[in-house]
Amino acid sequence: MQHPLVFDGHNDLLLQIQSGTVAADASGFLGDGGHHIDLDKAKAGGFAGGFFAIYVPDEGGASFMAEMMAESYDLPLPPAVGWPRAARIALAQASILISLDAQGAVDICRSTAGIRSAMNNGTIAAVMHMEGAEAIDPGFHMLDVLYAVGLRSLGPVWSRPTIFGYGVPFRFPASPDTGPGLTPDGIRLVKKCNDLGVMIDLSHLNEAGFWDVARNSSKPLVATHSNAHALCPHSRNLTGRQLHAIRDSDGMVGLNFAVAFLREDGRMDEETPIARMVEHLDYLMEEIGEDRVGFGSDFDCATVPAEIRDIAGLPALRDAMRARGYNKALMQKLCHGNWLRVLNQTWA
Ligand code: ZN
Repeated sequence: MQHPLVFDGHNDLLLQIQSGTVAADASGFLGDGGHHIDLDKAKAGGFAGGFFAIYVPDEGGASFMAEMMAESYDLPLPPAVGWPRAARIALAQASILISLDAQGAVDICRSTAGIRSAMNNGTIAAVMHMEGAEAIDPGFHMLDVLYAVGLRSLGPVWSRPTIFGYGVPFRFPASPDTGPGLTPDGIRLVKKCNDLGVMIDLSHLNEAGFWDVARNSSKPLVATHSNAHALCPHSRNLTGRQLHAIRDSDGMVGLNFAVAFLREDGRMDEETPIARMVEHLDYLMEEIGEDRVGFGSDFDCATVPAEIRDIAGLPALRDAMRARGYNKALMQKLCHGNWLRVLNQTWA
């Protein structure tokens, strides 16, 4: 097993399994799933677990890979998703995670003590996360039910608009300041999540939405899978002001492995060296401190550097970090310690 173990801020495995790209049940994880993440590759990479996103894809399922190879781009956001379809898909994905837990392949964790004990037992620690709250009704009944089965983290939007707010479109080069932020229901959602002990994820909010959460949340500010705008001026990345607000709240940022959010030219080009990921880590630590940076791979959604390829490629990233001179204590913080610290503060 590779050390230190990696606890990761974001993956889309549940979407891949549920949409049936290989198998629409647990075998998409237990066998050779053909995804970035399956059980064997996770063990090989020293993957301790992380946030498993429930995510409702848009109906067309359009891929923007070709557009994102251009010098600049401004992708239209898919239309809002209605509640019946969102609820059906969200329940299907939650059910897959529950089934993986029942089979002992993952442990759905509701506390940092639970994450630590899964890590000690060699079971993958899964935090149930929702990326885009289309499935949540304004009465929060779905939120209460999903909380009861383990939901502990939620992004009010995945870039598309929801009843809770407006997200950030995929633009390069562009500021994240793209429009209005949270709606009044979105503000209520933030307070409800604070009360329940559900982490709010800032990653797909635009800048106005980010500041709405900053003003209304009583918890540390967290962007689970975003990078530094100063190094890659993509609308999805965080400006200096945003990073400093995250630092001041004692929150954190998970480094996104998606090449379009890493590269200076914003292109979706997998020929991106691992060294570029370490440059973002260096920069983020300079801006917000070594206690507030971790990983948010975006495995099973994003195009990641070819040198990483999939979750079995995590050792290559650790090697690059060690080669950069990161000592044992720092490696431990970046690989999982910082996530455990922030979750402990958030869920308490
Ligand atoms: Zn995402």
